[in-house]
Amino acid sequence: MSMQENTPQENTPGTEPVFNRIALIGGGLIGSSLAWASRKKGLARHVAVTSRSAATRQRIAELGFADSLHEDIKGAVTDAELVIVCTPVGACGAAAEAMAPYLKPGAIVTDVGSVKQAVVRDMGPHIPEGVHFIPGHPIAGTEHSGPDAGFAELFEGRWCILTPLPGGDPAATAKLRRFWEGAGSMIEEMDAEHHDKVLAITSHLPHLIAYTIVGTAVGLEESTKNEVIKFSASGFRDFTRIAASDPVMWRDIFLNNREAVLEMLQRFSEDITHLQRAIRWGEADTLEQMFTRTRAIRRGIIEAKQA
Ligand code: NAP
Repeated sequence: MSMQENTPQENTPGTEPVFNRIALIGGGLIGSSLAWASRKKGLARHVAVTSRSAATRQRIAELGFADSLHEDIKGAVTDAELVIVCTPVGACGAAAEAMAPYLKPGAIVTDVGSVKQAVVRDMGPHIPEGVHFIPGHPIAGTEHSGPDAGFAELFEGRWCILTPLPGGDPAATAKLRRFWEGAGSMIEEMDAEHHDKVLAITSHLPHLIAYTIVGTAVGLEESTKNEVIKFSASGFRDFTRIAASDPVMWRDIFLNNREAVLEMLQRFSEDITHLQRAIRWGEADTLEQMFTRTRAIRRGIIEAKQA
């Protein structure tokens, strides 16, 4: 059921929308950013949005980024040419199951989840014959969540990884690529297993370390804890930003990328033990060589304009 219809947005002059109607399942940080980007760049003629809770739907209505707002998945996906699931990873399977009977033949279904093998496992079996399922993951985000956190420029200059399934339709993937490129993203395609391994080290492990170090500080006795906050600019502050990320989203990431995270964690533990030993035995060269190698990585990120 449609709760609200807004006036359709103006398209950027001279550009044809990639899709007539897109549906966003979830209107938090990523969903609202996609809606804003789509409206700003004229990527779709109509952006339909649904969100689980009445409170979030109310806020979406106030913010006005949906052309139509729906109480249920059925209303949002009906007639949509592109459906993007923007919920935590653990909710993707149920969303696919709920939308399956109402999907338009030839539609594309994708997601934005931070883990890909689990999404393929959970959503794949529900996607009907004749609908293209192409999982995706924008490498763009902030530590904020909810519909107020979104903004149109979130994806500009950022990578979006697509993990098309073997035997999928290249034309559908090309169309989805055009949509993400329109939102400002650069696209890379890889298989889901490789994605999960790469993200385990670039994103999931760093978050785990941040959650741990901030948790360790929380566990300190009161007097030291106060000093930690006072002098946080000495390094701790950067970890607190990452450790402020959404707890449900990150719970689902660790539960659903278990093997890859455990493998990277094992390697990390070995490396930290190596450093611990170097500190204990005063091995200055070991420490200096390690810190010199890591400095070069930072320079590489700056040169790749991903800083
Ligand atoms: P968010 O701001 O917290 O929004 C989550 C959305 O999902 C809300 O609309 C929420 O609905 C809905 N939702 C939450 N739990 C649900 C459930 N159990 N069943 C159905 N709907 C549910 O999250 P987000 O940051 O946009 O993240 C969405 C997805 O993007 C996640 O899979 C995440 O892995 C991925 N991602 C996030 C980032 C990032 O930096 N945040 C970056 C890249 C990819 P209600 O509010 O109505 O409950």
